[in-house]
Amino acid sequence: MSIKIDEELCTGCASCVKTCMYDAIELDNNIAKVLPSCTLCRACIEACPEEAISLERDDIKAQKIDLSQYKGVWVIAEHYKKKIQIVSLQLLGKGRELADLLQVNLSFVILGSDFDDKLEELSLYGMDEIIYIKSPILKDYYSDLYTKIITELVLKNKPEIILIGATPTGRDFAPRVAKRLNAGLTADCTGLEINLETRDLLQTRPTYGGSIMATIRTPSSRPQMATVRTGIFSMPEKVKKKVSIRKIEYEFKEKDSVSKIIKIISKTKHSVNLEDAKVIVAGGRGVGSREKFRIIEELAEVLDAELGGSRITVELNWLDPDRQIGQTGKTVTPKLYIACGISGAIQHIVGMQNSEIVVAINKDPNAPIFNWAHYGIVGDLHEIVPVLIQEFKKLKFEE
Ligand SMILES: Cc1cc2nc3c(=O)[nH]c(=O)nc-3n(C[C@H](O)[C@H](O)[C@H](O)COP(=O)(O)OP(=O)(O)OC[C@H]3O[C@@H](n4cnc5c(N)ncnc54)[C@H](O)[C@@H]3O)c2cc1C
Repeated sequence: MSIKIDEELCTGCASCVKTCMYDAIELDNNIAKVLPSCTLCRACIEACPEEAISLERDDIKAQKIDLSQYKGVWVIAEHYKKKIQIVSLQLLGKGRELADLLQVNLSFVILGSDFDDKLEELSLYGMDEIIYIKSPILKDYYSDLYTKIITELVLKNKPEIILIGATPTGRDFAPRVAKRLNAGLTADCTGLEINLETRDLLQTRPTYGGSIMATIRTPSSRPQMATVRTGIFSMPEKVKKKVSIRKIEYEFKEKDSVSKIIKIISKTKHSVNLEDAKVIVAGGRGVGSREKFRIIEELAEVLDAELGGSRITVELNWLDPDRQIGQTGKTVTPKLYIACGISGAIQHIVGMQNSEIVVAINKDPNAPIFNWAHYGIVGDLHEIVPVLIQEFKKLKFEE
């Protein structure tokens, strides 16, 4: 990709020169000239009052797409052992909202086998259409077959938005599909809105280590693709409505894929399942040490809760990495989240902000975590947590 200056249109007004943060544009004989330090940030394109600057993509050579051909919102289903994963259902909720704003259909695309008896139940999640790609081999996830099928489907049906779970599976096939379609893809979105004037999907996600939120749009390509983690959007209400079912059968054989699934190893009994936990007790650096974490574990045990923590507690080896909550850890949506000695850095907050009730214990009354807490307790957690344990034990005993 490169920045192209239309010399006929350029008036030498220097708006681009003033806007460029990288000093990567200068005026040469009163015509803008792009220097090698250009980062393709595109600020100059927005700044040019004459629309003399554009981004030229090498692969499709400024091929203009007729955006109006693209209509509809798709959610690609993810499933395991015949069960649709929760993130796909959450995406249907958000997808419905986006489709209603755009006044288009919402389609749920399932690549699988043995879903015939589940379609009626699934049709309660608010879509207008289920596209069911059926093939026995699609009982399991095959990276190349998913890429091939979804790419072909998109080329034929031209949806304008595709939403995918930011799971290991979604992260695997989404970029492959996007590359084949020359489409824009934003990973790990935490917000999705629509600009109704342009029909652009405004895809918000944390960037620069979570210090700022960036809103990304892909104005010149379609479909607009986004991945979203579990727990970012809530589950949709079930509704009874007419849903059309389009079933397409494929006769794939194992040899049609470059990969072969030999064995699927399920999570072990002891694996941590923070994403589905109803109650989470999380500790931060304020706990003080690995030994002192025992008190947090005890509170979790009394409440039948999962144990979690901030990234620092993992880095300090107080907690296992699969218990980290936040931007580079897990996204959780429990009914109750108790944060003990956690300051509330934005990278932690993005992982737990959709908890129903947040209780924060912190000795600093100005700790940012209190901005997110429904109940705040200011004080030393080593005094407060033992009292909570005692009181919860009493309640349990009374039960
Ligand atoms: C790219 C990037 C990704 C990141 N990803 C994540 C992530 O996924 N998850 C995550 O959590 N962080 C992440 N971080 C780190 C994040 O920025 C913070 O540094 C981290 O969340 C802080 O952890 P903390 O709240 O446990 O520690 P601190 O910020 O040190 O806070 C400790 C808190 O404990 C309180 N305290 C101290 N003693 C007591 C006591 N006795 N009783 C009560 N309160 C007490 C203090 O007042 C303080 O508020 C990331 C950072 C970067 C740059």
